[in-house]
Amino acid sequence: MSISLLEESITCPYCWEIVEILVDPSASQTYTEDCYVCCRPILIDATISEGKAVIQVTQEDLGF
Ligand SMILES: [Zn+2]
Repeated sequence: MSISLLEESITCPYCWEIVEILVDPSASQTYTEDCYVCCRPILIDATISEGKAVIQVTQEDLGF
């Protein structure tokens, strides 16, 4: 069975641009992804619940 990634929109915590990310719905995850607008590292926390993702973002050096 193939996993279809969830497409989510987040707001960059640095430049406040809307950024599209892809989230693996099979497990909750925390990872860092560079904003494609300002290239700064966004810490992304994706909590997966019943196939839906709840996304939190923060600046990498601040942490959650
Ligand atoms: Zn940005």
